[in-house]
Amino acid sequence: MFFEWQNIHGSVTPRTYICGYCGDKVGPDKAYFAEYDKPAIGRVQLFIYICSSCRQPTYFDSDDRQWPGAAFGARVHGLPPDVQELYDEARRCMSVSAYNTAVMACRKLLMHVAHERGAGEKKNFKQYVAWLVENHYVPPGGEGWADQIRGKGNEANHEIDLIDQHTAEQVLSFTEFLLKFVYELPARVGLSATNQPDAV
Ligand SMILES: [Zn+2]
Repeated sequence: MFFEWQNIHGSVTPRTYICGYCGDKVGPDKAYFAEYDKPAIGRVQLFIYICSSCRQPTYFDSDDRQWPGAAFGARVHGLPPDVQELYDEARRCMSVSAYNTAVMACRKLLMHVAHERGAGEKKNFKQYVAWLVENHYVPPGGEGWADQIRGKGNEANHEIDLIDQHTAEQVLSFTEFLLKFVYELPARVGLSATNQPDAV
């Protein structure tokens, strides 16, 4: 669907950014614009740029922060709708520094994937990740990642220990890696995830 925003300013400095909606790298030169005197700082400018790909608005505040920010990680193709929704949600959480929520979404996602692939009911996230490793859903070379996640990503929603950015990025990267392996690669070679031979 193509539409035009009305009364937009056409002579602002082009800005290059990763759109938080569509994920494209864009460089629009049209924006809604305002400026004011900020105490102790001086004249500051505010912009709302319109993505040249998807037409959605992105706000840049007086500290040049981008809202919404770019989602963390890469798109994964071939995901079932519910897995897709939860993965996108986790990526968007990262764009607003919601690291604990992002890890909780990944935890739910990995448990869902493991359960769907035959893990049955496990006690906790750690056991689901262990099951994924033991059943070869983590490719050779990925065990080191999995060990990190097993130790750090455990029980984010039961304990008070807060998740920092680095840990959240590790969990997101591992999740992306696993989803590509379980869903995207089989889809590319014409297999559905559920048609894969049992990996036991
Ligand atoms: Zn866009």
